[in-house]
Amino acid sequence: MTSSFPASTVLGYPRIGPDRELKRALESYWEQRTSRGDLESTARRLREDSWRRLAALGLEGLPSNTFSYYDQVLDTAVLLGAVPERYRQDDDLATYFAMARGAEGIPPLRMTKWFDTNYHYIVPEIGPETVFSLDAAKPLAEVREARALGLETRPVVVGPVTFLLLAQATPGSPGGFAPLDRLDDVVEVYARLLAELAAEGVGWVQLDEPALVADRTPAELAAVEAAYGRLGRLENRPALLVASYFGDLGDALPVLAATPVEAVALDLVRGTAHGVDALAGKTVVAGVVSGRDVWRTDRDRALATLLAVRERAGRVAVGTSCSLLHVPYDVERETGLDPALRERLAFAEQKVAEVVELADLLAAAPRRHAPRRHAPGRHAPGLYAPRRHVPGQPAAQGRPHASGRRTAQGRAPYPVRAAAQAEHLKLPILPVTTIGSFPQTGELRRARAALAAGEIGEAAYEGMLRTEIERVIALQERLGLDVLVHGEAERNDMVQYFAEHLDGFAVTRHGWVQSYGSRCTRPPILHGDVRRPEPITVRWARYAQSLTSKPVKGMLTGPVTIVAWSFVRDDLPLREVVLQVADAVREEVGDLEEAGIRVIQVDEPALRELVPLRRAEQDAYLEWAVAAYRWATSGADECTQIHTHLCYSDADQILAAIDALDADVTSIESARSRGRLLGAVGDFSRGLGPGVYDIHSPRVPGADEVEGLLTEALRAVPAERLWVNPDCGLKTRSYEQVEAALAGVVESAARLRARHA
Ligand code: GLN
Ligand code: ZN
Repeated sequence: MTSSFPASTVLGYPRIGPDRELKRALESYWEQRTSRGDLESTARRLREDSWRRLAALGLEGLPSNTFSYYDQVLDTAVLLGAVPERYRQDDDLATYFAMARGAEGIPPLRMTKWFDTNYHYIVPEIGPETVFSLDAAKPLAEVREARALGLETRPVVVGPVTFLLLAQATPGSPGGFAPLDRLDDVVEVYARLLAELAAEGVGWVQLDEPALVADRTPAELAAVEAAYGRLGRLENRPALLVASYFGDLGDALPVLAATPVEAVALDLVRGTAHGVDALAGKTVVAGVVSGRDVWRTDRDRALATLLAVRERAGRVAVGTSCSLLHVPYDVERETGLDPALRERLAFAEQKVAEVVELADLLAAAPRRHAPRRHAPGRHAPGLYAPRRHVPGQPAAQGRPHASGRRTAQGRAPYPVRAAAQAEHLKLPILPVTTIGSFPQTGELRRARAALAAGEIGEAAYEGMLRTEIERVIALQERLGLDVLVHGEAERNDMVQYFAEHLDGFAVTRHGWVQSYGSRCTRPPILHGDVRRPEPITVRWARYAQSLTSKPVKGMLTGPVTIVAWSFVRDDLPLREVVLQVADAVREEVGDLEEAGIRVIQVDEPALRELVPLRRAEQDAYLEWAVAAYRWATSGADECTQIHTHLCYSDADQILAAIDALDADVTSIESARSRGRLLGAVGDFSRGLGPGVYDIHSPRVPGADEVEGLLTEALRAVPAERLWVNPDCGLKTRSYEQVEAALAGVVESAARLRARHA
């Protein structure tokens, strides 16, 4: 039955298009400016271009079904018929987008981060009553499309265990129900899928099981055994590749090894080859080319790993550590980058070429012996070395060290600071503030584009920014907010803006990476030592403060978030890199203070994102992440009020760490899980602003609604420590909505103050 696995492959490929063609096609389809036929032909062209390109680069194992109109987890839900009734429409594509984006009065399915990446997937809803049924149209169509080009492909589908572990229980499911309870039913649908693909003549299928690189319970491991035992024993099926990525399989490796699947993909960049001996007899798809960074692969080191794996496991194919979805298309287009930096970079195209080259080198390297088994506990050399050090890069410097005027001594205890700040800032109780950004108008975006294109000068652009700041300050004064912001008009993005003003970063022109649906980001590349050549935000903050007697809050992005949303050098421990960025933020905090800014917010929306998947590593991470934040902020005088902002509140796990950040005030999103947040903040001892205005929705809450939310919050947080603010920045909303919403927020705070007095 089994043909041997191709010598080289990638686990997946970007699909948004080298020029974000899919983004444009989707958005114009959603706005009904183009037809379904237009969307489909763009999509088809993108798929065909990718396959042709991969084949031209010499890649042997081509994936298919890695294209998606929105998200591969959503595609899998559709494949399995797991479509909640409320989304069903006459037209299948309308149903699909209703789940992703909502439809008249029906909110979309929840969306959340794909493991520790910045990609977001749609969370399927599975209940005890969900009726599963196979809809294999998409994978079959892609196989046929590629065949029409003369290319055989390997359909890629999210595996049954990961699919169910990522799903949420349908609201109202009986207590104790978990989607994984439906494993047997779901596996039967996968069995039918495999039969259909076999009938189509498909040789290999890839089932993605990244959930297996996180800690799994014995019951979950038993589910792996059951699922792949059952699928493996099917009479009539293609050969199976189970793909793990983003870390080590750990306890799941021997479990998979014992099932009759033909191949297992391992992430040998983040994970190790520990236990790989157990896979002898199967093909190991050795992920030695990273799908998570933009650096060229160290060829010698990768080859050594491949040889060692081959010696221990027997059959090896060369692959990427994960799908290339998380990197941009082609570094050759980045003609604006310093050539010395560009030399060191590999985007998707270059990574494919590396995979092909390594496969050739591996094929040419003589086999030493027949595969032999190592005694348990003996590690093959080369497999466990720490991450590579790029020669010529400066080694880590001793940090934290004092930068600027202040020493690393922590700040005074919170009660002392709170008293000093009360004295200094003279804020009312229940102070009203915002998270930082005000609406980014089309005019502003156009001006930024015109500046970049050289159509307007720096002076004209800055004049516009000043006018915008004047307008934002005037608006906040008129509405009666207590702590004002300058509005962040100068920022394209909260990370890219800082990257553009710090040494050690480069930004790309075309380096788009899908974040969710049609949304892409262009992560900056942090390639060298980070330094702040000069103050970044100070003059805008100072200008805003000159316009008002109320305190203006200086607005900075925190060190963890700047690093989390960038591609980061891998020759230093992440911790060191974050501390370098923290140094720069610390200097900026000092300069803001010196400029008379008395409230400074350092945002860390990505604090949670970098939490390692394995519990054993989480405490160490949180410890250094918190230390970096404190290093960035602890130079501040006790009279200076430090705020932080987090974009999520299902943060029970890290509430202690948020407390440890030691910010004077934390604003946190709460629209989606208010009860849980308020239930969990009992021990939180500092200022807290659970959001009272959901900025993700065009809806404007009235003063009564906000008053209700505040009254509820007052049961969990004493009035002296409760802040009143929206959930997040206002930049995606219109001025009309923002004005109305903030008026209601201010009004409700005033009512409560009156009651309190
Ligand atoms: N200060 C930023 C803003 O208001 C925070 C954005 C965020 O939390 N993602 O836009
Ligand atoms: Zn936010």
